[in-house]
Amino acid sequence: MLKSLLLGMSRTPAVKKAVVAFPLTRRVVQRFVAGETVEDCLRTTRGLLANGLLGTIDFLGEDTTTAAQADRVTDTYVELLRRLSDEGIAGRVEVSIKLSALGSQLKGGYELALDNARVICAAAERAGTTVTVDMEDHTSTDATLRTVTALREQYPWVGAVLQSMLYRTSTDCQRQTGPGDRVRLCKGAYAEPADVAHKAKPAVDRNYKRCATILLEGEGRPMFATHHDEMISHAISEAQRNDRADDSFELQMLLGIRSDEQRRLAAKGYSVRVYVPFGTDWYAYFMRRLAERPANVVFLIRALFERPARERAASGF
Ligand SMILES: Cc1cc2nc3c(=O)[nH]c(=O)nc-3n(C[C@H](O)[C@H](O)[C@H](O)COP(=O)(O)OP(=O)(O)OC[C@H]3O[C@@H](n4cnc5c(N)ncnc54)[C@H](O)[C@@H]3O)c2cc1C
Repeated sequence: MLKSLLLGMSRTPAVKKAVVAFPLTRRVVQRFVAGETVEDCLRTTRGLLANGLLGTIDFLGEDTTTAAQADRVTDTYVELLRRLSDEGIAGRVEVSIKLSALGSQLKGGYELALDNARVICAAAERAGTTVTVDMEDHTSTDATLRTVTALREQYPWVGAVLQSMLYRTSTDCQRQTGPGDRVRLCKGAYAEPADVAHKAKPAVDRNYKRCATILLEGEGRPMFATHHDEMISHAISEAQRNDRADDSFELQMLLGIRSDEQRRLAAKGYSVRVYVPFGTDWYAYFMRRLAERPANVVFLIRALFERPARERAASGF
């Protein structure tokens, strides 16, 4: 109930305006978002690398409404990839892109998004790293997978994302088990209708395990994006059952969520990659993080009361 409400709010412009303007929110957002600039995100990323973790950086933005805006997002990724290369960390840090940020929602947008994604892939290749294409809601699944296929003709290392909440995903997994196929398996963060998606969490979890097994029995490089111990244990034990080396798959988590566990798994020798979002357009991403764990709403409210009185007085509430 609260989850659906928060996911609905994530797409409501009037609520966005109010939440973004609320000074307290920005402080709480810092837990999940690595600041607004390339510099901020590199600082956070260096900290993760120092703890033995890997990174995948997302320049936030899903509300691209003009081709010029899509170009700016593309330019930011190119600049970011150049900086990763200059700093000599591109081997441990890749980027994640959302096709909506690259213009897919505009008229004729998938062609535009594909062109922009190609520019980013070329920059990633120059830097010596990879790109993973995030998956958005189910209305974009086919077009996103088609875009990944088109990109892989030139850049076979491009990663796809599949969501275990969708009924179709075990079939999609079976098509992504070839040598070198990079597939990130997650549960799915969007509000989806019952005709395409499992609505009950146990069914989403069961499908996650089933899909993880399919990917691990294949020859690709699966990436398990989850904070859920049961899913992580399943992936590790299925990797062992298939005689896979610990570095033949990845465990992935989001910035600010279970950070101790990220470090613990990395210290045990697993490849743990942290998703590092940055930028000013954090609203939709932040609301999905609240929806995943209603306790985060309590965290938001508690932050209000923990603020020093001086700060409260200065900001007027
Ligand atoms: C690296 C990465 C990339 C992703 N990419 C995509 C994508 O492209 N498309 C997409 O739809 N989704 C994506 N997601 C989000 C994903 O689909 C889930 O919504 C999210 O990971 C929560 O699911 P879970 O597997 O962690 O399990 P859950 O069962 O939701 O959570 C398990 C436990 O993890 C912790 N936890 C989970 N979420 C939070 C949170 N927000 N705050 C605090 N604790 C939390 C809690 O302890 C919870 O009990 C990605 C997630 C990760 C980690």
